[in-house]
Amino acid sequence: MSFHKEDIICKKGCSKCCAAITLFPVEFFAIKQEIHNTLSLPDFNNTKQSHGCIFLKDSICKIYESRPIICRTQGLPLLYFSDKLENYTISFCDKNFTSRDENFEFDTEYSIDLDRLNSLLYKLNKEFMKEIGLENNIDKRIKISLLPSCISENIDYKSPSLYFNE
Ligand code: SF4
Repeated sequence: MSFHKEDIICKKGCSKCCAAITLFPVEFFAIKQEIHNTLSLPDFNNTKQSHGCIFLKDSICKIYESRPIICRTQGLPLLYFSDKLENYTISFCDKNFTSRDENFEFDTEYSIDLDRLNSLLYKLNKEFMKEIGLENNIDKRIKISLLPSCISENIDYKSPSLYFNE
């Protein structure tokens, strides 16, 4: 962020990248643990949204300090390598880098390799799922919108209903 600060206008109140995402269980339960004592549950329990993130209120993220990894990458230049790692493409929010033209050379060292990040998260989740004895559900993801009910109903990672919700 500090390297690209002149090109990135992301700020509180912009929610262009917020969406109803799903999370690997390892991240879902890490966030659940972190927001457990801070979230005002009545605000969220009965929210029914077909799109958009349940934690977005008045264009502000209510769990900003504990938000998912994918949310932390938005706005920054994201790097995608080709299969043989010979080429890459860069993607970024069209509100940012507006003074740069199409020939602007992004420095890969200051871009986020999203595939690598996702692969590390996948490995971490795999270990987590093995450790809790749910290795058959390794590819399951959980809707972020289920966090408030998991907190209020004290549903933990062993609940099978969570993994068949998608
Ligand atoms: S968790 Fe926060 S930053 Fe992520 S999509 Fe929801 S409102 Fe946006």
